[in-house]
Amino acid sequence: MHNRPAFELLHDPFLTKGTAFTEAERQEHHLEGLLPPTVETLDEQVERVLNQLDRWDNDLERYMHLRAVQDRNRTLFYRVLTSDPERFLPLVYTPTVGDACEEFGHILTRPHGVYLPVTSQGRVKEILGNWGSRDVRFIVVTDGSRILGLGDLGASGMGIPIGKLALYTTCAGVPPELTLPITLDVGTDNEEFINDPMYAGLRQKRCDDDTYYAFVDEFVQAVQDLFPECCIQFEDFSMNHAAPLLAKYRDQVCCFNDDIQGTAGVALAGIHAACQAKGESISEQRILFLGAGSAGTGIAELIVESICVETGMPREEAMTHVRLFDINGLLVRSRTDLAPFQQPFAAEAEPCDDFVEAIRSFKPTGIIGVSTVHGAFNEQVIRAMGEVNARPLIFPYSNPTSRAECTAQEAYEWTGGRVLFGSGTPMPPVEHKGRTIKPSQGNNVYIFPAMGMAIFATGARHVPQEAFLTAAKSLAEQVPVSYFEDGMLYPSRAEIRAVSLKVAGAVARTLDEMGLNRHKAADWDARIAELAFVPEYR
Ligand code: NAD
Repeated sequence: MHNRPAFELLHDPFLTKGTAFTEAERQEHHLEGLLPPTVETLDEQVERVLNQLDRWDNDLERYMHLRAVQDRNRTLFYRVLTSDPERFLPLVYTPTVGDACEEFGHILTRPHGVYLPVTSQGRVKEILGNWGSRDVRFIVVTDGSRILGLGDLGASGMGIPIGKLALYTTCAGVPPELTLPITLDVGTDNEEFINDPMYAGLRQKRCDDDTYYAFVDEFVQAVQDLFPECCIQFEDFSMNHAAPLLAKYRDQVCCFNDDIQGTAGVALAGIHAACQAKGESISEQRILFLGAGSAGTGIAELIVESICVETGMPREEAMTHVRLFDINGLLVRSRTDLAPFQQPFAAEAEPCDDFVEAIRSFKPTGIIGVSTVHGAFNEQVIRAMGEVNARPLIFPYSNPTSRAECTAQEAYEWTGGRVLFGSGTPMPPVEHKGRTIKPSQGNNVYIFPAMGMAIFATGARHVPQEAFLTAAKSLAEQVPVSYFEDGMLYPSRAEIRAVSLKVAGAVARTLDEMGLNRHKAADWDARIAELAFVPEYR
């Protein structure tokens, strides 16, 4: 092509400025005539995108529009997102990304990221090497097996790594050119997708476990060979694989699982904030879980570690500060139906299959709902918590909202406004003491982008549990004291970037103190501010 360099400059999403190329740049790079004559500022371009978004009828269309902007011009995309994170995060990630994944085969336009099909076993490194850059520092990878609450979406799960990485950049400034979304296409058991002519993944059943683990192992090794400073974030893997993969790789390579560790971190932050609100120590808390699955046991484990680290309490004693209650009742030693990951949480207590009774006997300071049972925190449960606590912690963490154990309005109403509240999904505003309160949501987005930025800045070799303990503490310290009176436990999402950078700084210091950093800095806050991607044309 005659004018290839100009064409490439205009169409490279990391280099283009579109209509913001100046007259001088247009002359220098032979771009004259390839753009309309008006030279615009970045903010004028943002204005146009905002106007275009207003023309669409629904959020999936707005998602598709934003994805197209992302593919075209990264600076503009991130300028739009950072201009109003509260408005745009739900459009590029949950809840809209769930609809996008379900429709992924139908709305697919430009491919983005890397697809590694299980049929390429033995050639994973070669295929991963097809990615255009040798400097990749952050991968979000899914196998599409448990996409949000939607189940097995196979290769259509790719919307999740793409969306999640956009949050890493928007919230904490992880440079987008160093990130890579990946889907391990190991087949799908979703018959509807296999029979859909528009489905873009492998049309075969999920592979057996031996093939699966060998394939993931080949992938992890290929990442080490090609991108030695890269962190792998496992995302939306079904629990039967997520836990063993994390256990296998967490001490071997730089990786973490946000569903397990990020969730635990954000819940622990809510408990720390509640402790600040009550003027109590974490060692004075007793937490009862409704639900003893991956989320419940993951959060319980981090709470126990936090109590041990903060107060020096022996682990055995710290374990008595958490109790879990599942579909068959309280987890107690005499039960014979507990899975190995639940057994450490079996309490030395009488069997009990009534949650209210469990509250009356354990007298928890907080209850966390991770049961997926809508309405399980009913009036009796919440009033029982109000009877044994001046300020009960009530965290209905199940999502989507249709699964939440209670609404914010109920929690405020049935405790006479004394509740310290955190939900897993956004809840409508609550009328409380003549004011309208936005209930706080314990969203992982307060943790994982900051974790990513800290890992990138330090070049961490591993991601220890201490990093999540620090992130939780730092997040809680940033909740304005004025929020506590209204029962709110998390900072405003409008402040997410400033909050995330502070959390990242704190985590970086922990990684440094533990000697896990490849890079050094005298002042990690300053180093992180320097490294953070700012959406501006250079
Ligand atoms: P899971 O399937 O592993 O566990 C569910 C648990 O609930 C099981 O222990 C089950 O026995 C128990 N349960 C089911 N019905 C019950 C009943 N009637 N009474 C008591 N217990 C009952 O699921 P998970 O991965 O642990 O997730 C649980 C919920 O937490 C989901 O809704 C998920 O979306 C939510 N979650 C939220 C966040 C977040 O807000 N950041 C993160 C992770 C998970």
